[in-house]
Amino acid sequence: MVSRVIPVDTFDLVIFGGTGDLARRKILPGLFRRFCAGQIPAGARVIGAARSAHNTDEYRQIVREAIEEFGGARADACDHLDDFLQMIEYVVIDARGDDGWKELADLMAGTDRIEAYYFSVAPALFGDIAKRLKKWGLADAGARIVVEKPFGRDLTTARALNKTLATYFNEDQIYRIDHYLGKETVQNLMAVRFGNMLFEPLWNSQYVDHIQITVAETVGVAGRGDYYDNAGAMRDMVQNHLMQLLCLIAMEPPARFSPDAVRDEKLKVIRALEPVEPHHIVRGQYQAEPGNEEQHPSYRTAVENPRSRTESFIALRIEISNWRWAGTPFYVRTGKRLAERSSEITVVFKDTPHNIFEEDAGRHRNVLSIHLQPNEGITLGVTIKEPGPGGMRLIDVPLDMTFAETLDADEIEHVDAYERLIMDVIRGNQTLFMRCDEVEAAWEWTDPIIEGWEARNDVPRPYDFGSTGPIAAHEMLRREKREWRQVTE
Ligand code: NAD
Repeated sequence: MVSRVIPVDTFDLVIFGGTGDLARRKILPGLFRRFCAGQIPAGARVIGAARSAHNTDEYRQIVREAIEEFGGARADACDHLDDFLQMIEYVVIDARGDDGWKELADLMAGTDRIEAYYFSVAPALFGDIAKRLKKWGLADAGARIVVEKPFGRDLTTARALNKTLATYFNEDQIYRIDHYLGKETVQNLMAVRFGNMLFEPLWNSQYVDHIQITVAETVGVAGRGDYYDNAGAMRDMVQNHLMQLLCLIAMEPPARFSPDAVRDEKLKVIRALEPVEPHHIVRGQYQAEPGNEEQHPSYRTAVENPRSRTESFIALRIEISNWRWAGTPFYVRTGKRLAERSSEITVVFKDTPHNIFEEDAGRHRNVLSIHLQPNEGITLGVTIKEPGPGGMRLIDVPLDMTFAETLDADEIEHVDAYERLIMDVIRGNQTLFMRCDEVEAAWEWTDPIIEGWEARNDVPRPYDFGSTGPIAAHEMLRREKREWRQVTE
């Protein structure tokens, strides 16, 4: 099957923070891969804008090195790097002062291309940049801004940030990025749900026993301890990424696949979330690796805060109060320094109402697994008869719904979430970006949970390095005669 790459219109993309970690690891290599795929038109420009004093040639060298280091196999196989580098420019700019803004305004003047500004800088600078874009005449009606996470640290700060951005830009110009939504499989989840007759009739509490969402990481907090200790897993992962996944799984079918129709349905899910009872929350902190404390210290050592009460792991039992989901719990968990790096959504269907195969009573359930990383794919566990003689023995087999072999394997493997989302920004498609009311509603649900454990002086439970989290997280499910799915790659 031939992949269809539809070129986007000519654009100028300004990356504030163009020398930073995110730009070097994700944004620039992603743009290069899109260039190699033929999606970026001749004449498009990528303009790095940051505080460090470089000229364009020096910056092109930075971009070259970033692509060589982080571009991946597809970039290695592409010999157009020199052509791509010709699209790159650089402006030394101070987000908090006037330095560099005239140069940027001159560079952007007199073109009728699509203008996009990627705020790949600390959130404290978002307002400064928005204000100066306006001041220097760069915030015209067609301009788009891309805003990175974290979007606030509670409802008050998120509201303030929304208000600031709304002073200079309309909502249809603001792209709040959540890279989980850019993953191929997340979109495939919507295709599977809304493009088939099979699943939708079963997609409710009558047929679904429970749903699990796991985002397990093997990394610790090294390098970003200051930020993380002020945030914790709830703010860093649940309020945004896990919440978005939960919305896509739980939402009603939108009337059409348009940005606001999809986001309206996601918002309804968030608004239907029940407050979470304290006994449905398990927070944890990872311990050092025994015998290797130097290299893999405990959470508290890593963040240099021996009394830290911030969680590096959280598990929650969430209920959605609507007709579709009343009675079906959603178990979500995420943590660092766990056994495997794995993100997975699992829909566990109920037992058949009557089991005619007495020997196998209660042992087989249909399970739909949506793997987001490291290997993207969707499988449906179905029960069949074990082939061969020997009676009616049942086994569960996975039905692969990704069909990688029949699709263009190159496209599937190499379109990273960031490159897909950046192309959506250029196309002006906001479907996979969070709207202001969604972000605020998510904080509205999150805030009381955090305030609750702060008021109770809750101390996270220790869990072993390389484990699956605190034992209490397993007990929470066992109390309900359920089990977490095994964390596997
Ligand atoms: P970084 O510290 O590596 O880079 C920051 C960039 O901002 C640098 O280019 C620096 O020159 C520039 N900068 C700093 N002060 C400036 C000023 N006053 N004026 C102009 N430029 C200035 O940060 P990062 O890791 O690249 O993160 C950028 C944003 O992306 C943050 O909001 C972060 O939360 C978010 N983010 C990063 C990652 C990641 O993997 N790095 C992942 C998700 C979200």
